[in-house]
Amino acid sequence: MATTVPISCPDCAGVLSVVVRGARYEDYICQVGHAYAPADLLTAKEQQVERALWSALVLLQHVDLIVGHLGGQPRSAPTEAPVALDQRQQQARAHMRALRDIIEQTRTFPVS
Ligand SMILES: [Zn+2]
Repeated sequence: MATTVPISCPDCAGVLSVVVRGARYEDYICQVGHAYAPADLLTAKEQQVERALWSALVLLQHVDLIVGHLGGQPRSAPTEAPVALDQRQQQARAHMRALRDIIEQTRTFPVS
């Protein structure tokens, strides 16, 4: 018997179901057939977390660059106040440092 769980498939983002295969063994299987033992699912999810954190970090770098570009442009019409842009740039840089710390401090558990 399969029971759906609120965890998406790491490969396709489909719905996962847990399938019990005996007293102490279960698999997670998605709608299209990707299958994971629990340890493999944990590893795959840890990898997704790391990729998401790096993606957020690079997006913040983009914000930093764009805000820096806007701050250096001449203003014919007032759009964003320079102070607000400067504050956003400082905030983005602080968030980048925090994310990098999180990435560097995260230790995943070796599962075998
Ligand atoms: Zn899948």
